[in-house]
Amino acid sequence: MSSKVVIIGGGLAGISAAVAALAQGRQPLLLERTAGLGGRARSLFARDVDSMIDNGQHVLAASYHETRRLLRRLGQENAIHFQQPLSIHFRFNQRRNFPFRAWRLPAPLHFLLPLLFGAPLSRSDRRYLFRWGRRFRQTVPEQLKPLTVRQWLDEAGQSPLLEQLLWEPLTLATLNTPLRQASAFLLYQVLQKAFLSSAATSGLGLATRLLGEIFARPAEQFIRQQGGEVRTFCTAKHLLREGNRVSAVMTQKDERIEAAETISALPPNALARLLADSGLSGIVPTDITGFRYSPIITVNLWCRRAIPGDFPAGLVDSPLQWIFELPHPAQKPGLYGYTFVISAAEHLVTMDAQTLLDLCDRECRHFFARGLRDHFQPVHYKIVKEKQATFLQTPQSLTLRPPPRTSLANFTLAGDWIDTGLPATIESAVLSGRMAVEALGDAPAPPDT
Ligand SMILES: Cc1cc2nc3c(=O)[nH]c(=O)nc-3n(C[C@H](O)[C@H](O)[C@H](O)COP(=O)(O)OP(=O)(O)OC[C@H]3O[C@@H](n4cnc5c(N)ncnc54)[C@H](O)[C@@H]3O)c2cc1C
Repeated sequence: MSSKVVIIGGGLAGISAAVAALAQGRQPLLLERTAGLGGRARSLFARDVDSMIDNGQHVLAASYHETRRLLRRLGQENAIHFQQPLSIHFRFNQRRNFPFRAWRLPAPLHFLLPLLFGAPLSRSDRRYLFRWGRRFRQTVPEQLKPLTVRQWLDEAGQSPLLEQLLWEPLTLATLNTPLRQASAFLLYQVLQKAFLSSAATSGLGLATRLLGEIFARPAEQFIRQQGGEVRTFCTAKHLLREGNRVSAVMTQKDERIEAAETISALPPNALARLLADSGLSGIVPTDITGFRYSPIITVNLWCRRAIPGDFPAGLVDSPLQWIFELPHPAQKPGLYGYTFVISAAEHLVTMDAQTLLDLCDRECRHFFARGLRDHFQPVHYKIVKEKQATFLQTPQSLTLRPPPRTSLANFTLAGDWIDTGLPATIESAVLSGRMAVEALGDAPAPPDT
């Protein structure tokens, strides 16, 4: 092992940076403030339901190439079931469903034809979709940067049904931002990379285990086995500067950690605090205090009987948006566990537990069957509100995302919010970790395994 690289923040960006550093012969020391790795993609013990759960449903895409490479390194690719082809069950109400399944055809026909011929669309909806498909192919992504998704869609005319069925759920699920505020450029990237580039990579990736068993635990083992170090309950408080370099990281316990190189894998607000406390606010070229954040609410329910239907289910025009079955380790004997996801949940984040449960009850009866009242009564529930699940992904936010390099020679940045060109997702976090290591020096990129 040659030089030591201190990585601050043990979320997926920090994990990815540590793994990339090891691949380059660097020795990573990963510092994490909390009890374990994983950050915003972690598992937790919910004492009140006596169960391990995830902090929220995380859906991957078959097109998450960086993440799949990381999963392979950690020996975990089989822990995610990648659909082939893409398959989602949309529900309009108790009687009206649309089981979307991509066709085995060249892109984008694999995606557009099942919509054109399978979805309950009117002639004008179909004309709109056809027109939209043609426009999409001619789009110059850079020109979308100032636009919101709302403005982009308005340019192609109106189709209220497609907005409910496609654009709204897709924007909320991938950008965690309401359509009227969300960045058209980022939605274009999602559509292009995840759904429209090839039938083979358009499927969703669903975890078959808890996140902690897929990322945090295997990563900690891997980093240690390969000669790196992981320290939990270790908060970085201060960076010491010598000339154009960071020379050491001071922790909350006043420990001085010497660093040949340092990577921040912190969210923007935590990094802004660390830099301000170190008198280094000017070293990042954008105003990272300008980000706003968007919550995700996850309602986990364990019921006596199964909710009828196929999952994942997209609830059309519902505040609940999506229902997933809980992964096997979070199921309880004799019960059926589900996760209800509410993205961009700013308007619901102050709602109390009983009102949220009533909302789930009402929507379940609307979408599945009125007779489900007793049937559906949850035996246990656990609600997780992640108030800063991602930054609010507006056109303005694009200008705040910095590159991994800072003005200090041995200090780089990672995190889902760095300018990766991707929305704030697992894939962006993992890519950013590799970018931060590559930005440190001239070492070659790690080989693809
Ligand atoms: C509920 C929810 C659902 C989501 N769903 C999806 C999904 O379906 N698909 C998808 O792709 N993405 C999803 N995401 C987004 C995804 O989880 C994030 O993009 C990703 O986990 C961000 O990783 P990160 O490493 O950049 O940041 P973080 O995970 O925030 O990591 C930062 C780490 O730094 C630590 N830290 C903070 N301050 C200090 C300090 N001073 N010293 C040391 N450590 C510190 C924190 O404890 C944390 O562990 C979801 C997020 C949430 C919250």
